[in-house]
Amino acid sequence: MKIPEEFSLLNRSFSVAWMDEDTHLIAQAKGAASLEQGRVLLYPSEHREDLEHTFLHELIHMVFESSGYPELSKNEEFVDLISGMLHQYMRTKKGELE
Ligand SMILES: [Zn+2]
Repeated sequence: MKIPEEFSLLNRSFSVAWMDEDTHLIAQAKGAASLEQGRVLLYPSEHREDLEHTFLHELIHMVFESSGYPELSKNEEFVDLISGMLHQYMRTKKGELE
């Protein structure tokens, strides 16, 4: 799957950028997302599937937070479940229904 440079949720635009080494070391995270800054940061990984899952994980955080469910966003296990299943769907979908 392609990881976008930009996307929108509820007419709010978000940018996607690489996380620098200092932020990675401080946050001890593969990714981060901020609704206030409208930004998702990803730490580079040579494992493409890890990077895709991390992007979708941060996307799901922003879906919950921008739609008024911040308490769901705080549930890391739930966010990871939804993003993992979305990733599986995106990797396994085939064909196009005509
Ligand atoms: Zn998370």
